[in-house]
Amino acid sequence: MRDCIFCKIIEGFVPCMKIYEDEHTYSFMDIAKDVDGHILVVPKIHKKNILDCDEETLINLMRTVKRISNHLVDNCGYDGVNILNASDESAGQSVPHFHIHIIPRRKNDGIDAWPKFEGAKEEITEIWEKIKL
Ligand code: AMP
Ligand code: ZN
Repeated sequence: MRDCIFCKIIEGFVPCMKIYEDEHTYSFMDIAKDVDGHILVVPKIHKKNILDCDEETLINLMRTVKRISNHLVDNCGYDGVNILNASDESAGQSVPHFHIHIIPRRKNDGIDAWPKFEGAKEEITEIWEKIKL
């Protein structure tokens, strides 16, 4: 068994509050208690993040993200969702098994799920020249 907390949850060696499971994906409550209804969705296959994830795994993962999001809005009284991901430690990833955060949202719930950036430091056109595909 890989030394990975999310692999251990998927394999049933670590308990979780399961939200949903299918052949390729697994979803459970995030235990951070930082915001109501914080959910994680993970692929059953161990991938670190979007950078090493094959397209088929990514499609399966996002299908489940959409399914749970629609369930939250259609059946659970929410109006929308934030979908969050950190890919790589540089981006704030703390658990090295690919996961998408879903934050269920209600109108006027007062949650600020958008990062507070400090303002761009470089010229936007210089960055654009460097990063366009
Ligand atoms: P990130 O910082 O984007 O890598 O997010 C990792 C998330 O995993 C955090 O929000 C943690 O609260 C969550 N987490 C860590 N261990 C567990 C666990 N055993 N069960 C549920 N969520 C966990
Ligand atoms: Zn893993």
